[in-house]
Order: sequence, then structure tokens, then C-alpha cells
Amino acid sequence: MELTALQWDNRFARLPETFYHRVEPTPVPSPHLVAWNPELAALLGLPHDLTEHPDLLEVLAGNLVLPEMAPLAAIYAGHQFGSWVPQLGDGRAILLGEIVGLNRSRWEVQLKGAGMTRFSRMGDGRAVLRSTIREYLASEAMHALGIPTTRALAIVGSPLPVYREQTETAAILTRVAPTHVRFGSFELFASRRMQTELQQLADMVITDHFPELLALPAAERYAAWYREVVMRTADLMAEWTAVGFQHGVMNTDNFSITGLTIDYGPYCWLERYDPQWICNHSDTAGRYAFDQQPLVGLWNCTRLGEALHSLVSEADALATLESYRERFDATLGRLFRAKLGLTAADPGDAALVAGWLDLLERTGADYARSFRALSHWTPGDGAAVADLHTEISDSPGLVTWMERWSARLDAEGQDHTVRSTQMLATNPKYVLRNWLAQDAIDNALTGNVGRVDEIRTLLNTPFDEHPELERYAMPGSEEIVVSCSS
Ligand code: AMP
Ligand code: MG
Repeated sequence: MELTALQWDNRFARLPETFYHRVEPTPVPSPHLVAWNPELAALLGLPHDLTEHPDLLEVLAGNLVLPEMAPLAAIYAGHQFGSWVPQLGDGRAILLGEIVGLNRSRWEVQLKGAGMTRFSRMGDGRAVLRSTIREYLASEAMHALGIPTTRALAIVGSPLPVYREQTETAAILTRVAPTHVRFGSFELFASRRMQTELQQLADMVITDHFPELLALPAAERYAAWYREVVMRTADLMAEWTAVGFQHGVMNTDNFSITGLTIDYGPYCWLERYDPQWICNHSDTAGRYAFDQQPLVGLWNCTRLGEALHSLVSEADALATLESYRERFDATLGRLFRAKLGLTAADPGDAALVAGWLDLLERTGADYARSFRALSHWTPGDGAAVADLHTEISDSPGLVTWMERWSARLDAEGQDHTVRSTQMLATNPKYVLRNWLAQDAIDNALTGNVGRVDEIRTLLNTPFDEHPELERYAMPGSEEIVVSCSS
């Protein structure tokens, strides 16, 4: 494959210059490939193996810009930890352009850590190897779990020193998504009273990513679009909750207008179930604690509604916001029913789920492993759930809860083998525990970069048993500290 055979476009770059600053990546010395995701490469029409394409490696390092690209850093604003920040932007990400891939699908290709832009503020525009590995693995793990997310194509490392708490080395992550437009993109234009630009951005997002709304008359279109964004956000918060994912930095500049999980920093997948868990050590007040996420999602949607004030009436926005909770509850209810192997809604569902979560919380059980253990249960096991660790197995509440659950299963009358198979396809055996990401990082730092893609490949089929990799399903032995600089 020749690089020139790729079809590039950049619709974002056709917006006026008020939307971005044109900037080329800053080259790095001695780039080497750390990770390559052939499944995503296939979607983009890129080669399966990069070793024979040194020119593509140079592109992904930011050392080579093709003539068809139109690199730029987008401007946006946002609420960070609740405080208004009037101007932000791609400070360490550069949008190269869009690749027109398989079935004419379009993918924005961004280099994260490709050098300074006008929006770098006090930063150096760089990312460290550690943080790119964390984002690479998390995006692909999330995708394999069926949860909307930006994707990760590659990591290119360089010996270039980067200074954080200590000296580290630079790496560039290739991030891929249909669009990287955020809530904060709209907040910027609204705060500057730039109505024309605000509408232009909304029109572009609707045309490119919500084309079904174009059939509506303009007067209804924006309200319908806002409603769709809010509903997608409610769904995403429910998906995160059900899978035990904590984002860590839910600022409005990290909220995607198409409802994707975006910007993986100090995230975690819960191990011990603690709803008040704070994975981001910079979040001292716990604003983004695990159980706060649904509320923060609503808070962010409210900020977006304010920003869209000139396009969506206050009455329409309020009506939409009022239905956020109902949508979140309905989606979460459906997800938890599936996790418990139930097919039909029942008025007792919420109490049943709450009872199980309460058991997990009181006993400090591992979130993923506990649901996985339930998935293997058959009636012959009685109240025993193999593989549940002793604290929960010895808890008197477990017997009572198991009786309620199995009575509910009996009432549904579904075959237990079928139910178990469905649960095993719903409750992942493997999630990206912080220690797994750290294992990939430690290996990469000592020269074994192959571990990164080994773990990505495992997490690509998180519902399969992989008996030879069983140790990756185990909880970590110690807490790994992650902060905003992660
Ligand atoms: P984040 O918390 O990663 O979403 O980043 C918030 C803002 O800070 C974004 O506008 C980033 O572009 C910017 N930023 C974060 N790290 C850096 C860095 N190393 N250099 C320049 N800008 C950065
Ligand atoms: Mg961000």
C-alpha cells in the first residue's frame, strides 16, 4: 500500500479560521513503533503490518505531513472541576485530517502529544509513554465492551525527554474518532456571543453526525439534536456505571458531542466495589467520584443547554434535561437486568440490584469478578457462588439475596445454560485494571513494547475465558496512583 493511495479530507479545516489554529506537528528524534492496532487499521484502509511502511511511522510520529492533510488545533473552552475556563483548545493534540476508510466511513485522525500549539498554555504539547499506553489500552478495551469511545490506532515512542514529576520520554498516540467536537466547543462560541459560528458548528455536527435530523424543519431540528446529545450522554453514564468505569476528569471539554468516551487520563475500572471511589488523585474534593458521574453528566448537559440558548428554547432544553434521569434509570435498569441474567422488567428489579451492590460494597468484593461468578452459577450450586471471595461468601446476606435472585430466575423460566451463556457475554472476565495498564507500561519502559498489544488483544475479547491468561483477571495487590498528569 502506498500512502498516496489513502483518501484524505478535513471537513473541520473548511470551517473559518475562528474555529482553529493551523499548526504542524513538531518532529521527534528516532521514532519507534510501540503499539499498532491492525483491527482499526483495517477500518481505515491502512496496512495490517506497519514494519514495511516506514513513511507511515514518520506520519504517526508527526515527522511527515502529507500534502492532502490540513493539520490544525481546535479551539474550545470548558468547565474544569466546576470552574469556567474561557479558553482551552487542543494543547497537545493536532488534527491531521479525516481518512475516508472502509465503506466510505470517515475518521478524524489526531496525533496526541505532537508538540505545542497556540493552546498549549503552560504545557509542552507532549505526552509521555505512560499516558499514551493508558489511553491506547482504555479506548480499545472500552470499544470491545461495546461502549461508545474514541479509538486508538498507534503509539510511536521517541527518546525525546519530557519533564513531569520526573523525566520521562515522549510518545505520540494516534487517536481516531468520527469527530472530536466537545461540549466545550459550543461553550466557547456562546461565551463570546459568536452566534454565527455557534450555529455553523451545530450545522456541521448535525449534517455529519446526526443526518437523520436534517429532515426536520429548522425550528425543531436543534431541539431534537440537543435532546439526542443529552440522551446519548445519559446512556453513556449508565454504560460506565454498569461496567464499573470511572473517567476521572469529567470536565465539559472532555465531553463528546456525539456521546463518546473521550480523553482517558486518571481513569479506572473499579476493582473493590466502592461507589465513592475517587480514581483521580488530583480530584481532592471527589467531584468526579464514581457515584457522582451520572449527576455530573446532567450538570454538563445543562452547561451545553445554556451554550445552545440561541438555538434551543429554554422550555425545550428544560424538558430535555428533565428526562435525563428517566433515560439514565431506564438504560441502567436494562444493563443491570442483563448483568443479572434477567430478561423482563419487574418492579422489584431496582431493589434486587441494590441488594447485590450493597453486598459487594459491604464486603469489598471485586466488581467484575463478582458478576462473572454469578454468571457461572447453576441451581445445583444452591446459595454457593464459586469463585466469590470469602468475605462475600461468608456474608449471611448472600444466602438471602441468592434466594431472591434464583426465585426471580425461576419466575422467568429461562433455561439456565442459556441464561449463563448470556451473562458470560455481558459480564466481562477481563477489564483494564490499573495494574494491567501498569504492567504494559513497565514492560514498555524496559524495552518489551510487545506487551502493550498483547494486553490490547486480550481485552479485545473480554468475555472469553483465555485460561492461559487467567492472572489478568485478578485484582491488583496495591493501589496505583494516577493523577491529571497521567
Ligand atoms: P485534559 O485534562 O487532558 O483534558 O487537558 C485539559 C487541557 O489542557 C486541554 O486543553 C489540553 O490540550 C491541555 N493540556 C494538557 N496537557 C498538556 C500538555 N502537556 N501540553 C499542552 N497542553 C496540555
Ligand atoms: Mg481534554
